[in-house]
Amino acid sequence: MPELPEVETVRDGLDRHVVGRTISSVAVLHPRPVRRDHRGPAGFAAALTGRRIDGARRRGKYLWLPLDNGDALLGHLGMSGQLVVQRPGVPDERHLRVRFGLSPLVAEHAPDASRDLATQPLELRFVDQRMFGGLAVSAGGAELPPEIAHIARDPFDPAFDDDEFVARVRRRTAGIKRLLLDQGLVSGIGNIYADEALWWARLHGDRPGERLRPVEIRRVLAEARAVMGAALVEGGTSFDALYVNVNGESGYFDRSLHAYGREGEACDRCGTPIRRVEFMNRSSFFCPRCQPVPRSRRISPRD
Ligand SMILES: [Zn+2]
Repeated sequence: MPELPEVETVRDGLDRHVVGRTISSVAVLHPRPVRRDHRGPAGFAAALTGRRIDGARRRGKYLWLPLDNGDALLGHLGMSGQLVVQRPGVPDERHLRVRFGLSPLVAEHAPDASRDLATQPLELRFVDQRMFGGLAVSAGGAELPPEIAHIARDPFDPAFDDDEFVARVRRRTAGIKRLLLDQGLVSGIGNIYADEALWWARLHGDRPGERLRPVEIRRVLAEARAVMGAALVEGGTSFDALYVNVNGESGYFDRSLHAYGREGEACDRCGTPIRRVEFMNRSSFFCPRCQPVPRSRRISPRD
C-alpha cells in the first residue's frame, strides 16, 4: 500500500511532468475507479476535457490537480494504484483504468525546444489492479477539495501545528498507534511508518494518549518525520524521468525497517525477538523490551 513518501514522490513527478498541460482527451476504461464521481464516467470525462492542469498538490495520501476553472482532479491510490506518465503509443499497462491525453507544454516550433519533452504530447495513466483507489472531479476544489477538508495536515506540512497535536493526543484515551493512524489528527502515517516511529521512540502502541508526556508525543512525531523523510529521499533518487510510479515494495523497506515485518528477528537495539500482534485487521510489530506493554493493557495472570 502506498504510504505518504511514495505519494509525495508521485506528486513531485506530476508537478514536473503534467503541470501546465491541457487535458485533451479522457478515456475511462473501467467505471469502478471513477465511482465516487456522481457525473458518471462520461460526465467525468466531459468535466476534465479541455482543462489546463495548474498544479499538483497533496494532503496526506490524497493527490489533487488544480484546474484552470477552479475545479480539481482528486485522486487516491488506494492499495495498488499507480499514476504513470507515458508517451502515447506505449503499450497499455495490464490494469490500465483511465487514460488522459495531455497536450504538449509548448508549441513544437518553439525555438530551441524541438527535442524537449515539453513539445511532445504525453499520457497520464491511472493503473490499478485492485481498484480500491479512484479519481473524481472536485467542484471548486482547486485550493482544497471539500471532500478532504476534514483530513488533518501531514507532519511535513509547514502549517502542521505540533503543539496542537500534543494537546489533542493528550485528550484521547486511545493508544498512541491508533492515534497516529487517525487521519483527523495527523494524516499520512500508515501502519509501517507508525510501527517504525514507535520503535525509534521506544513507545508501545497501546500507551494511551492521555497518559503520554508531551516529550514522548514530540519524540514519536519527530521519529515519524525521520523515517518518512528517509523514505522520501529514497523515493526521490529512484525516480525515473518519465515514469511516475508507486508501489508498497519500495527498496527503502527492505534495508531500513527495524520493527515492521520482522517478527522473531532480533531487535537491532537490544537483541530481543520482535513480536507481532493483531491490530485493526492488520499487524503491529514491536520490541517487547524497548517498547514495554503498558501495565493497564497487560493480559497476564500475574497482573
Ligand atoms: Zn529492543
